[in-house]
Amino acid sequence: MERVTSLEDLPLRTNLQGLTPYGAPQLHVPVALNVNENTHPIPDSVARDILASLAEAIHSVNRYPDREFTALREALAQYLGEGLTADNIWAANGSNEVLQQVLQAFGGPGRSLLGFAPTYSMYSILASGTGTTWISGTRDADFELSPVTAASEVTRTNPDIVFLCSPNNPTGTPLSLETIAAVYDATAGIVVVDEAYAEFAPTGTPSAITLLPGRERLLVSRTMSKAFAFAGARVGYLAADPAVTDALRLVRLPYHLSALTQAAANAALAHSAEMLAMVDDIRGQRDRLVVELARLGYSPHRSWSNFVLFGGVTDPRETFEALLAEGILIRDVGIPGHLRVTAGTENETSQFLEALSRLGRAGT
Ligand code: PMP
Repeated sequence: MERVTSLEDLPLRTNLQGLTPYGAPQLHVPVALNVNENTHPIPDSVARDILASLAEAIHSVNRYPDREFTALREALAQYLGEGLTADNIWAANGSNEVLQQVLQAFGGPGRSLLGFAPTYSMYSILASGTGTTWISGTRDADFELSPVTAASEVTRTNPDIVFLCSPNNPTGTPLSLETIAAVYDATAGIVVVDEAYAEFAPTGTPSAITLLPGRERLLVSRTMSKAFAFAGARVGYLAADPAVTDALRLVRLPYHLSALTQAAANAALAHSAEMLAMVDDIRGQRDRLVVELARLGYSPHRSWSNFVLFGGVTDPRETFEALLAEGILIRDVGIPGHLRVTAGTENETSQFLEALSRLGRAGT
């Protein structure tokens, strides 16, 4: 038989050798609560408008799309408000791509990226992909991040870029505007606030976008994947000084946002209110998870996102497998004694809680 080629046989870049790709399992299960998706499908009325917009766009796919995705930047600026205009907005195929472009423009060999572990697992992967050195900073008790702790980590490690996840994945922990401002003042580098889950914060919570005026090195990234229930369409974006979007133009691939993506996103944004209609419901299920997990004897962490990290799990692997055997997929994020679950529909959340309760307290 012919020998199978393995990765070791290839002249892979040295800094990628031995690494593993992002790999949340994609399993077909009845209750998938593992990657913080919005488990509510988009409303039919909006789906119809999106289809009409796609039907129109398909007629011109022989041409390259608007390289400046102007209508989309205008719609996103309007959605965010805060006096932003299209010049402040950048978008790409998911906020993962936005973050990658930020590293391509401002990171790279000889430069470093600081994040505060445990945090979104893609940050270190994007760092290796762009040849940027990853620095893992530490948090306070209960995964909180005070202005003093964050700023002193920045001063100690002197990174070129800081990624602040607000609220933080996988812990759900909110981040104060004071911490963001303190980090900004402590560095001469780029500060990115990843607000992928911002819409799930309590109503009226100010976004880091309110800190943008006068801070040209501050970037706030967002996504349509979560609250907007648009994960499959791949649309992420950021708000920043227009000079930042000019920098990102240097590294983006020409025509990176397809005409169909732009058409779908524009139609969805014209219906923001309906697209976001399930956010209240999801927040309710998240708060229910916190209450019920505590009642079952676990230690849920406070969350401003659409998921809950809970401790007190004797054997996370065993609990994960036992739930999977019942068709319920959650996430082992590698924090000892912890698991993470996404807030689903009321029915999905009930199925998870009932299955967990049948397993007995903390996997014992
Ligand atoms: N940031 C955070 C904190 C996330 O959890 C995710 C998705 N899991 C992303 C960014 C990327 O999302 P997307 O590429 O779908 O916009």
